[in-house]
Amino acid sequence: MPCEVKEKARVGNINPIFTCQPCGAQVASIGIKNCIGIVHGGQGCVMFVRLLLSQHYKESFEIASSSVHEDGAVFGALKRVEEAVDVLLMRYPDVKVVPIITTCCTEVIGDDVDGVVTKLNEGLLKEKFPGREVHLIPIHTPSFVGSMVSGYDIAVRDFVQYFAKKGEPNGKLNLITGWVNPADVTALKHLLAEMDIDATVLFETETFDSPLMPYGNFVSHGGTTIEDLKGTANALGTIALNRYEGGKAAQYLEKEFGLPTVIGPAPIGIRNTDTFLQNLKKLTGKPIPESLARERGIAIDALTDVTHMFLADKKVAIYGNPDLVIGLAQFCLDLEMRLVLLLLGDDNAGYKADPRILELQKNVDFDMEVITNADLLELDERLKSKKIELDLILGHSKGRFISIDNKVPMLRVGFPVYDRAGYYRHPVVGYAGAVWLAEQMANTLFADMEYKGVREWSLNVW
Ligand code: SF4
Repeated sequence: MPCEVKEKARVGNINPIFTCQPCGAQVASIGIKNCIGIVHGGQGCVMFVRLLLSQHYKESFEIASSSVHEDGAVFGALKRVEEAVDVLLMRYPDVKVVPIITTCCTEVIGDDVDGVVTKLNEGLLKEKFPGREVHLIPIHTPSFVGSMVSGYDIAVRDFVQYFAKKGEPNGKLNLITGWVNPADVTALKHLLAEMDIDATVLFETETFDSPLMPYGNFVSHGGTTIEDLKGTANALGTIALNRYEGGKAAQYLEKEFGLPTVIGPAPIGIRNTDTFLQNLKKLTGKPIPESLARERGIAIDALTDVTHMFLADKKVAIYGNPDLVIGLAQFCLDLEMRLVLLLLGDDNAGYKADPRILELQKNVDFDMEVITNADLLELDERLKSKKIELDLILGHSKGRFISIDNKVPMLRVGFPVYDRAGYYRHPVVGYAGAVWLAEQMANTLFADMEYKGVREWSLNVW
């Protein structure tokens, strides 16, 4: 079979592609307004995640830690949660939403976070902060199962489950973006605006591309409000763009409130953007306007300029978040590229049955591997042993040394990207995203040819 899907055979993980579940929960929580999460664990569970996020977004934002020490790790650390909530609410009078995000340590010791939330609701909040709206939400994200991707999915579901409240229909559409960049949110809002659709864009981090103003630095906060979250139950439907990052919340809204629901595909590439617009039309009844047909036409024209001449038959490996990897893979196939290797960095049993992966398996007529529970050594070893040859790598900055050591050019895409300037400001979704991706892939190959002194005849006649 040309396309094999298999789990990494080697035990252990060397140069992981993902970090742990609490990271994903923190990313979901920074998408909510007036929200500061408390990560119940050692300080590093916040410090390293916050560092990654700051390196990626180049912005400042706030997440708290209960800062568990040795005594807490042995005897239980719920007292630290109580103190953390108290201090956080005193210092930040505008904070209304406080997810208590568990970690490996506090899950192993069995801290009853749900119990302490009940205790705080009955005690501290009533006695010290009477009349203040505060929502304490336990989010269980032990790091010894899943990954940052499932952590994001769980947190989004838990927030929606906590707030969604049946009321009058609001005529809006729920759009769960998944883990995307600020520019992707802007691009998605643009598509919605062109179709004149009133949507609640959930857990959105558009303000993480924030201004530096004369009156001081801007601290970034997500744009999703408590009212937005409550209203999700009364929407005319839900679209979750990413199956593994928001799919659970969409399923919950469908099951609990009977909302028409579409999960995926992430609108990466022309084909998936077309499907997204068709899904918008189906759920809202709004037509796709001429302006978007024109944007599509401009994109097709731009892709035609680079596809057959430069991208066709180029061998590519892709790693990162699964919905992104699969979306990029589908797009690369449409651009006549050869997918050699896809690396999915956790052991989600659902990947093998994912209809998009099954479709890839059916459609490729060349050898291709999909490795689950993968690490970056899988890529490095294959290149060093000459088991595979590549023209291009697509992935986040953690794989940069594989690109440098093996002299394979790489386009940074996904999270985190910290060794290129401003990538969070360029969308990969929508027609504009398709153009950006294809042209960046071509430019990456051109720069590599120049650097290596390859006299590619086709460059001279373009
Ligand atoms: S693996 Fe455990 S200790 Fe390490 S950052 Fe994740 S939750 Fe914290």
